[in-house]
Amino acid sequence: MAAIALLGVPAGSAAATTGGARPPGATPTANGSPTGPPSSEPSAGSLSVSSARTTPRKSFYFGFHYPRLTFTIESSQPQNDLRIDVVNRLGEVVQTFYRNDVAPGAPTGIRWDGATAEGRPARNGTYSFRIGPQGATASARPSTASSTAPSLSFSFYGYAFPVLGPHELGMGAGRFGAARTGHTHQGQDVMAECGMPLVAARGGEVQYAGFEGSAGNYVVIDGKGTGVDFMYAHLAEPSPLHTGDSVRTGQPIGIVGETGDATACHLHFEMWSAPGWYEGGSPFDPLPYLERWDRWS
Ligand SMILES: [Zn+2]
Repeated sequence: MAAIALLGVPAGSAAATTGGARPPGATPTANGSPTGPPSSEPSAGSLSVSSARTTPRKSFYFGFHYPRLTFTIESSQPQNDLRIDVVNRLGEVVQTFYRNDVAPGAPTGIRWDGATAEGRPARNGTYSFRIGPQGATASARPSTASSTAPSLSFSFYGYAFPVLGPHELGMGAGRFGAARTGHTHQGQDVMAECGMPLVAARGGEVQYAGFEGSAGNYVVIDGKGTGVDFMYAHLAEPSPLHTGDSVRTGQPIGIVGETGDATACHLHFEMWSAPGWYEGGSPFDPLPYLERWDRWS
């Protein structure tokens, strides 16, 4: 085995960089905010944004934490009809929230669930919130009232890399399709120290959590909106999740171990095409996906 490259962040700071991997059993984020209807007679004073921030700075589709904007305005009017856009890096609006009769100095919160106005998961990328009055077109909106300060930008992804910390994608015997006695390797191995936190690459429903002789402690998650099942094996301890649980993208699902048929600490990771794991689907090579998710882990 080659030396393990330090590709990830120090384990101690992992929670901060993932938008906060809370301990297993913690409550996931609240639902996204309703978009609300626009005002029939939009009215706003001379506006400025006095404070605004977005947390966390990285989040995931069906994630454990949704990006949340908190802001207050100053205005020459006591009530203001506002429009808050989620904009992509090109400035295109992907979702819009309307808040009517907003008072100056009153904190307002918006939580985006990662869905576009058409109800689809937003693409991977950098986004920001833009705050302005209703009734003005994007180009006509005064720049003083439209805030897209760097403090409001955040990144959003459809998937999380499943190992939170230093890791190496196994080559040779660790690859999908590698020869095993009597069968071939159905997944991709991710080498990491025992005890390293594991998170759901994609949330959804726990299809199965249990123990088996070769997989050791393992968990299978039916990925939300994907048709794909994700299997995580050799966990050091039984997953805190149970069959039937709902799980969010980026939520802790256990820790790296070497239970079952394993000769070193690692995650054995499988992806199964629809309809899924031992439901008629087939395992396919997860490596290209893991490499992609690793870029933002
Ligand atoms: Zn394996």
